[in-house]
Order: sequence, then structure tokens, then C-alpha cells
Amino acid sequence: MLSRRNALLFLVTLIAVAAAAQTPSAIELSWAPRAIAAGSPCLFRAHVAGSPSSVQAKWMGRELIFFPSSAHHLWYALAGVDVETKPGNYTLEMELTFLNNQVVRQRKTILVAPDNYKRETLRVPERFVQPDAETLQRIEAERKIKDAAFSHQAPEPEWSGRFVPPIDTTVSEGFGTRRTFNGKLASIHRGLDYHAKPGTPVTAANSGEVVLARELFYEGNCVIIDHGQQFMTLYMHLSHLEVSEGEKVEKGQEIGLSGATGRATGPHLHTAVRWQGAYLDPAQLWLLQLPNLLSAAQPGETGN
Ligand SMILES: [Zn+2]
Repeated sequence: MLSRRNALLFLVTLIAVAAAAQTPSAIELSWAPRAIAAGSPCLFRAHVAGSPSSVQAKWMGRELIFFPSSAHHLWYALAGVDVETKPGNYTLEMELTFLNNQVVRQRKTILVAPDNYKRETLRVPERFVQPDAETLQRIEAERKIKDAAFSHQAPEPEWSGRFVPPIDTTVSEGFGTRRTFNGKLASIHRGLDYHAKPGTPVTAANSGEVVLARELFYEGNCVIIDHGQQFMTLYMHLSHLEVSEGEKVEKGQEIGLSGATGRATGPHLHTAVRWQGAYLDPAQLWLLQLPNLLSAAQPGETGN
């Protein structure tokens, strides 16, 4: 039998449990892939109690802006881990803001596991061609053009469903290959190369807006697509451009033909994935299951 004091305690506990179940502080965060390494693109899913007006998170100095899905209480953010991130635990700080200005914060530690990208050790340093003054000026001017493209703001996601490979050929060089000279890191391959005979059609990996489509010194004819919230894909060394800056493109739409323009050793397609300055592995992105935002949206539910 419960004593009066124990009965009271029991009641207080019951009320506390009931209150906890209703409190909006409960955030269930999950992500895919489960095992994250440097260069991994990640889809975060936040199941939140209540109806916050915004769900934001900071992770490794980058801002994740979650967007609500058509499923109740389920928010998503497409993000990733830069290729140069060292393995270890990184704390993600979440912040929910409610209409009554109540703010709920929660922290989650996420492990970034060691990657297994290829490592190449070169004993004889390559001869780096020193660009002349005129070329250096061009490179500097193009850096500003690229920075402007990379800072493009599209607050809503424009992608829907999985990202698809932009070309139907085999991979010639994987992402993340680290080249070292005498133990000193010289370069990291921040993209994925495909074998491509000149003139092979190249298509948009997902829907979005073309934020750059022009010829650049290193990249050659280059296309950059913003899929929203600064999640971008890049396509380089094209022989021909079929889209222009500011144009909206659909997933699978032809954006150009492959080539060997710019500083390319031969005909191939270099494709890259960039999110807020972080370079992610395209091959991992093609495998990532992503929600179909277009078909999931009810008419009038989203702005697009
Ligand atoms: Zn490449």
C-alpha cells in the first residue's frame, strides 16, 4: 500500500511525466548516412514536438536551416561534412523558436569517423606552372565571380528526391584523393571525375537555379547550380554550355556537353558538391535517399 507521502510523490511524478511529454523541448534528431566521415553529405531529420516557427542548428561553424516536411512535426536539413574535417566528435546545437518567442535549445554530439579516401604519395614534386601576371589578374577576377555565385541566397530547397549522376559513364578519379609530397599535403581532389568523350551530354543532378555558367581559367566552361540553401553542384571542363546564369533547371535537364576546357589533363567531367563552402563526395550524394519534396507538397503548401 502506498503511504500518503508516496502517493503524493507518485502523483507529482505522473504530472511531471505528463508535462515532459507535452513540453516542446523534445527533439529527436536522426541522420543519414548513419556513419559520417569527412566529405559525407548528410540529411538531418528532426522530429519536434509542438509547432516551432523555425528550426535551426549550428554544426562545425555552419548554419543548418531546417525546412518543414509535409509530414507533421518532421523537419529536414541537407548538409554535409567538409572533406578536410578531422575525425572526432562534433556538437550540433539546435534551436527551436516558437511563435510565442519561446526558444528551446538542444545539443547532440555526432561522431565524424575516419575516411578511407585514396592517398597518393609523390616523391618527385610536379612542376607547377606559375601563371603570368595577366593570368593571375584573370584568376583573381574569376575568384570574385565564383564567390558571388557561391554566396547566392535561395532560402527554400529547390531539390526534390535523390540527386542523380550527371553523366552515364564510369568514374575515372574518386573524390577525396589526397596527394602528399614528402608527407606534406599538396592537394585534395574535391570532386568526382567521369570518363567522358568530348560532346557527351551532361545533365543537372537535381533541380535548382544556375548561378554560374561561363568560361573560367581553371574550370573551363563551368556550370554551378544552387539547389537551395547554398547546396550546390558544379560541372567543369565542358565543351559547350546549354544554360545561362539565372536560369531555373530541372533534374535531368541537359546543361552542356563534356569537354577538356580549362586546366584539364584530358577530356573528362569533373563534378563537385558544395554546401556553405564545404566540399562533399558526389558519389555518396547519389546514394543518399532524399524526400520527394515536390510530390509530397500539397497544393499551396509551398511557395514553388
Ligand atoms: Zn576532378
